[in-house]
Amino acid sequence: MASQKITRASVTHLPVWHRKEVGKVAFADNIGLCRSEWLVRVHTESGLQGLTIANRYMRSPNGSVAGLLDILKEAFLGRTLDELLTLDGDRVTGVGKTVSAVFRDHPWLSIAAFDLIGRARGVSCIDMLGGGRRNPVPAYDTTMFYQDFLDPEKGSAKNAEEAAASRADGYWRMKIKIGRGSRWMLPEDGLQRDIEVIQAIREAVGPEHLLMVDGNFGYNGRFDLLEDLMRETASANIFWFEEMITADVNGYRRMRDIQMRHAPNALLVCGEVDQSPVSPVYQDLAAEGLMDAYQADIGQEGFANWMEIERTLEGTGTRSNPRNFGNGRFGTRAGVIFGASSETYIHFEDERQLDHTYKPDGLSFENGAYMIGNFHGLGLEIDLDIWDRDHAKHEVQISA
Ligand SMILES: [Mg+2]
Repeated sequence: MASQKITRASVTHLPVWHRKEVGKVAFADNIGLCRSEWLVRVHTESGLQGLTIANRYMRSPNGSVAGLLDILKEAFLGRTLDELLTLDGDRVTGVGKTVSAVFRDHPWLSIAAFDLIGRARGVSCIDMLGGGRRNPVPAYDTTMFYQDFLDPEKGSAKNAEEAAASRADGYWRMKIKIGRGSRWMLPEDGLQRDIEVIQAIREAVGPEHLLMVDGNFGYNGRFDLLEDLMRETASANIFWFEEMITADVNGYRRMRDIQMRHAPNALLVCGEVDQSPVSPVYQDLAAEGLMDAYQADIGQEGFANWMEIERTLEGTGTRSNPRNFGNGRFGTRAGVIFGASSETYIHFEDERQLDHTYKPDGLSFENGAYMIGNFHGLGLEIDLDIWDRDHAKHEVQISA
């Protein structure tokens, strides 16, 4: 089975909808309602299909459909499945020699390789990642952007309202975007609004909810305001502080000091912007115990790179918590599968986008976590009626 040949690959643009308007963040204007899922399908001669997404490549400055087809051709066409990954039993140990250059440049390709080989061998990607370590996989709602800016009359009451709705939908964990003072408000006013929003949300969801904050570097250069923030929100019991400042060892030493004074149980997490993981500065942060969890994106790095990242960080005490944002519904599947297998994983970043294109995939969400069934590869299947009706005419294919 593993020697079968790949004969065809394609890319299709799928629209993917948030269930609500998603607002601003420290560095950017509104996310909005609808985003893109660039679905890649790879087929073998005997009819197996592997999936991944090319969102990271398509959002890069040089991303294009024509360029993507060249990448797929180099990575897959005419190759046999056993060229793609190296395995020890069912566990993946690395990337095959002939594809290592293209997989290094475009690590998201490895997800399709896992999917194909998993299906060919009759095992799940969880087994290929080293086996299941948790089921269900806890998830956090990541859609609390600057929702107060979408409804200025309500202000932080808007955030509280959405947090209560998230709680009613079954979530026990939420991440709150802060850092308004870096761009959208004066620094002191932004701090006050950040605090007000955090407190309003804590009030709305009650004391048991796990709350994280994400500054997207909005507190750069303002350790005074960062200290005010940590002091004033101590009673809200923030579980983690994400990217409050740019990754830098001296800055993180200073931030750790402040955090230990005001929120000694909180984690400092970062790394989603790391383009070639694990970059030296993040290795330094990990070695000094200044980075409690690392977050390179699952849709960008794929499975093989994340296995490598875990090897790099092993022994440092830094936990794995890949970011999942801008990855569409596909990202839910890929992220939960990784989370199920990773020893140090904390929880899944859930964009909560609406279902589309795929069949019900055996992931069931209950009481704030995803329960996973049995499947081969990724276990994600396209609904061919929907495909033929909406997407087939937009599919761009290449064949060997
Ligand atoms: Mg973030």
